[in-house]
Amino acid sequence: MNDNYEKFKDQMPEWVKNEADFELYKLRHSTEHIFNQAVEELFPGKIVRAMGPAIQDGWYNDSRWEVKPSEEDFEKIEARMKEIVKMNLPFVYKEVSEAEAREMFKDNPFKLEFIDEFVAAGSPLSVYYTGDPAKGTDIFVDLCRGPHVDWTSKIKAFKLLSVAGAYWRGDEKNEMLTRVYGTTFANKEQLEEYLNQLEEAKKRDHRKLGKELELFHFEEEIGPGLPIWLPNGNRIKETLESWAKETEREWGYERVTTPVITKENLFYTSSHLPLYKDSMYAPIEIEGENYYLKPMNCPFHHKVFSSRLRSYKELPLRIAEYGLCHRYEDSGSLFGLMRVRGMEMNDAHIYTSLENAVEEFVNVIKLHEFYYKILGVKEYEMELALRDPNKMDKYHGSEEDWQLAEKMTLEAMEKSGVPFKIVNEGAAFYGPKMDFQIKSSIGRVFTASTNQLDLYMGKRFQLEYIDANGERKTPVIIHRAPLGTHERFIGFLIEHFGGAFPAWLAPEQVRIIPISNDNLVYAQEVKQQLFSSGIHVSIDDSDDRLGNKIRKGQSFKVPYMLIIGKEEVENKTLSVRLRSGAEIKGLAVDDFKQKLLANIQAKKLELTLE
Ligand SMILES: [Zn+2]
Ligand SMILES: [Zn+2]
Repeated sequence: MNDNYEKFKDQMPEWVKNEADFELYKLRHSTEHIFNQAVEELFPGKIVRAMGPAIQDGWYNDSRWEVKPSEEDFEKIEARMKEIVKMNLPFVYKEVSEAEAREMFKDNPFKLEFIDEFVAAGSPLSVYYTGDPAKGTDIFVDLCRGPHVDWTSKIKAFKLLSVAGAYWRGDEKNEMLTRVYGTTFANKEQLEEYLNQLEEAKKRDHRKLGKELELFHFEEEIGPGLPIWLPNGNRIKETLESWAKETEREWGYERVTTPVITKENLFYTSSHLPLYKDSMYAPIEIEGENYYLKPMNCPFHHKVFSSRLRSYKELPLRIAEYGLCHRYEDSGSLFGLMRVRGMEMNDAHIYTSLENAVEEFVNVIKLHEFYYKILGVKEYEMELALRDPNKMDKYHGSEEDWQLAEKMTLEAMEKSGVPFKIVNEGAAFYGPKMDFQIKSSIGRVFTASTNQLDLYMGKRFQLEYIDANGERKTPVIIHRAPLGTHERFIGFLIEHFGGAFPAWLAPEQVRIIPISNDNLVYAQEVKQQLFSSGIHVSIDDSDDRLGNKIRKGQSFKVPYMLIIGKEEVENKTLSVRLRSGAEIKGLAVDDFKQKLLANIQAKKLELTLE
């Protein structure tokens, strides 16, 4: 039997976009069946299989195990799986009656639950055999809708990866099952490439590097999701922030500072209360009134706009702030810097006339491109989140405004030339939402920022300006945050650069390594000279041997190490050791300083000194 793409297209997950993805889906789903079969043979009577889908990076299997398998068991399981693949058995589809299905899976509560659901939904029931029951070669059967490859021998490259726990159907009220992750690729080369990428991702994990490079710290006594920025991490944060401020100044923004806490009424005006209440910290009562920590800066900026009557001549008015926001996220979903409860946002709101709104929105997209180019982010796309047609009651504002906002956002995205896709869910309650998805250098995708074109809040806040004809008009509001939050964006940058930041972003740009204490005085002089030019420089004056000092500097990923020995002291020069291992000898201190400052100034991605 041949399971083809056309037939299964409608039931495929989002990542299956073409025939090749579909072939991969079949390979993975088929491998998962073989996994089930192998473990049931190896641990007879000790496993009750539940479910196991193919996913974007591979597949997983959830089952009830009497004794949880360990990764040491993987070799044995993989060996048996390979034998089954070699047997070259067909996958055979068969439709079954409800009675047949109930009889076949009478000892499996999970399958019985599926059968109940399929029957209630009026869906046909089917099974897939591994081996042909008509010829008596079948060795395995599962309740399954497919699709599968036609022969087991089509599976050329798979690997078991890890063991975890997972609630039955993802619901924490249900039984905890054991989840085994594995992956399958079309061939050995692709599998190898994926495994290397996985290895690299582990090394670059921002939580691991955050600790090793002393960038940030989480403290139980302070609370989950509330990072402390250590001096090294704080330098990165300040460098990014001053870059954003400088850039925004050039792009015509004004800066403001607004409180982190406010009377609740502001959020009733914005309709965040009660709509968004679950994502906010509980209120604090002061003098008989409720105050909330702000989860976003928007309403405050609207108040900046309305602090006096505005003229069309002031538009577009671009109001920017690195605002400190707090959101309640349940502790299970917190993840390093990527999902936190306290965050500083590269926020701004642009107040513009309807006529200029599209152009302003295009400029916001251009600003993203400007930042990405400097950071070496080469792959990115936009995703436009529209209203979910099944939940139309969730959205506020008139249908007319919604359609206009959608049309204008689309027009801006088309004009910008940045590739984009559209999804019919995920819009904010007050307008369509555009996300920037960026790919790190190892191929991990992040949602970096969210931008919105908003025809709703201006009306809610009764914002007005006087237009050229002396009439009162409501401005269009653009919400934008190209560098997202410091937390998420620096989390991304750590993984993107693998902790090896370009010189301009590196928290420690230069480490001076005197070979012995005799060289210490000169080392101090050099340090002072660099320090006074704003360079982040330190001296390793420990008693370690030279090799150890270099290794330490290397593990901190310091861009430049200056090795100072007798020769350097006598000639008043430097030996520069780049992070790459390359060396430049005999450089005058001032020469090095000027070249480094030029590299920093140009925000170069490479450490070249020219
Ligand atoms: Zn299946
Ligand atoms: Zn906003």
